[in-house]
Amino acid sequence: MTIQENVALAPLTTLQVGGAARYFAEARREDEVREAVQFAKARGLAMFVLGGGSNLVVADSGWPGLVLKIAIGGITTPPASGATGNAVLFSVGAGGNWDDFVAQAVAQNCAGVECLSGIPGSVGGTPVQNVGAYGQEVGDTIESVRALDLKADRVVVLPKPACGFRYRSSIFNTTERGRYIILRVNYRLKRGGAPSLKYADLQKYFAEKLAGKKTSPSLAETRAAVREIRRSKGMLLVAGDDDCRSAGSFFKNPVLSEEQFQELAERAASKGVEIPSYPAARSQDKDAQRKVSAAWLVEHSGFSKGYVAGEAAISHKHALALINRGHAKASDIVGLKDEIQRGVQTEWGILLQPEPVFVGF
Ligand SMILES: Cc1cc2nc3c(=O)[nH]c(=O)nc-3n(C[C@H](O)[C@H](O)[C@H](O)COP(=O)(O)OP(=O)(O)OC[C@H]3O[C@@H](n4cnc5c(N)ncnc54)[C@H](O)[C@@H]3O)c2cc1C
Repeated sequence: MTIQENVALAPLTTLQVGGAARYFAEARREDEVREAVQFAKARGLAMFVLGGGSNLVVADSGWPGLVLKIAIGGITTPPASGATGNAVLFSVGAGGNWDDFVAQAVAQNCAGVECLSGIPGSVGGTPVQNVGAYGQEVGDTIESVRALDLKADRVVVLPKPACGFRYRSSIFNTTERGRYIILRVNYRLKRGGAPSLKYADLQKYFAEKLAGKKTSPSLAETRAAVREIRRSKGMLLVAGDDDCRSAGSFFKNPVLSEEQFQELAERAASKGVEIPSYPAARSQDKDAQRKVSAAWLVEHSGFSKGYVAGEAAISHKHALALINRGHAKASDIVGLKDEIQRGVQTEWGILLQPEPVFVGF
């Protein structure tokens, strides 16, 4: 396994900002992951695990230790033994491209991840923030996660309940951050299952598309619809579209207690507007918590789509995506993030929490 030195990280991320990794390795097999871990341990280097780089802001000073890119691929679908009734278990290497896996699942007529079409990044990145979109989350279909436990120094298989999936979080980005290197993820999908059409944008899309027809959309049509909607929002990586030089949504939708929400609603009413909100599906106490739209808060705090701050900007297509206009530094992106957080806090009393991972800050 080759360990490289001073490798630029910006080209390995979708936001394309930041400095270099002091050391860089790419692991295609589990034994290579262990080898890289040993290399870092022996030299007392801090290690950062890189997937597809689609949820990162890398500091301009880069990463002083080892960046380990996980490139373990492969998808296995056990035939009869892996299928219980309609359930099909896919075991997918952490380094595989997420959307390639979704395409394969849909092609095999398996439901459960079709609404997560078009999300960039690796398979191993999906459990970390419990990736979600258009009414589905990976936590709904993950059966277990195979990982190298750096604390116990052994490979473990974590069943879904041990992963602690919640809205944009899991043990991997909260309580056990930095402890596990995800090697494979096992998804339980449903062969012949109906597509999930819970999300308003999708329902609207099909209401217009299938007007008058009785047929319900197939998994493949749902995948195509999700990709088309994402493209219109700059949330699909499309060559030549500057609006997708981003890390996706930069802020999480705030989850508020009923009391906090009432306060916010009153503030909105006093300004003559109504704030869109939804029940927070993954909260422990469903009745007591509301999720409000971070995009709405941003747009109602003086920041519109296309807002420019030097080399950083807000996407022309989505108020939550901060973009690199071409020559931005990490400090430009952080500057715009700070400006938006201050603006929203002043206007609405809410501190928006960033969604991407900050590396080397
Ligand atoms: C245009 C665009 C649209 C997006 N849309 C969505 C969306 O709709 N919903 C959504 O949830 N996200 C979205 N994202 C964010 C991002 O794509 C996801 O979070 C994705 O799962 C990140 O995976 P990655 O492999 O790129 O991880 P990276 O960005 O490389 O890493 C993210 C974090 O995961 C950790 N990590 C990655 N791989 C491993 C591993 N094998 N083991 C342990 N830790 C690991 C890293 O250390 C880091 O902490 C979007 C991003 C972009 C650019």
